Amino acid sequence: MITVITILGGSSLLVFIIWSWERFRYDYRRMIRDSKHPEPEGTGLLLPEWAQHHDWLRIHNTYYRSLNLHNQARFLRRVMDFMRYKEFKYVDLDPDPFIPLLISSAAIQLTFGLNDFRLDFFDKIYVSGSAYQVHWHKQAFQGHVSLQGIYLSWEHFYHGYRHYDDAHNLGLHEMAHALTYGALMGKASMDKTFRSRFREYYKVASPVYKRMRAGGDSVLDRYAATSFHEFWAVSVETFFEKPILLKTAEPELYRTLCDLLNQDPVEIMTIKPV
Ligand SMILES: [Zn+2]
Repeated sequence: MITVITILGGSSLLVFIIWSWERFRYDYRRMIRDSKHPEPEGTGLLLPEWAQHHDWLRIHNTYYRSLNLHNQARFLRRVMDFMRYKEFKYVDLDPDPFIPLLISSAAIQLTFGLNDFRLDFFDKIYVSGSAYQVHWHKQAFQGHVSLQGIYLSWEHFYHGYRHYDDAHNLGLHEMAHALTYGALMGKASMDKTFRSRFREYYKVASPVYKRMRAGGDSVLDRYAATSFHEFWAVSVETFFEKPILLKTAEPELYRTLCDLLNQDPVEIMTIKPV
């Protein structure tokens, strides 16, 4: 045991203990649960990579670093579950286990307050080395979502997490598109209440969107005025990367995002990093 403690180190050992305990509780609950009610937390096994993944996320994902140990364990379990359910395809980019981990962490960050966290509508995530061409479009894409999957430029995705304070985060932006794409296109397994909460979000967000369309100022990037879909994705980026600014400048919009996503980044960010 002493050897194990030495190898794992302080915080990693605590995550291991909490995760193992959660795993045990989950297995027990699953054993006694009616099989008609699937477990929302997934069936992730304790894989040997968990310690490496924990370290990578602590270094590269500010949100993960800000969580307490209990939530880090929950986050990591969801990430590993998410990765198992997705097929990552690489274009002009060498596969690296770090890439699906960080991309999955963007999805889990967005859906951390929701029961449905797998973005089930999509099986495939395409990752290109940099910006890419799509059909007839003249301008290169950094990311987009279509029926075929979620598409990301790794260069721009990584930049978003390297500079986690400018309200520009490609991963959160595209995952926000993917979340509503799946939820609003009628995926039966999606959290039923998400749609009604999104209608509430729409009611509150519409006046801000219309104000921006009319040329008015906002703390949101001007790109939000492109369409309401883009407004939604940009508001998510600002919600996570500049939560205090958004809460101060647009308190109603901030509150409805907290309700919709069932989490409050201002509260999370006040937790001391481990
Ligand atoms: Zn967009």
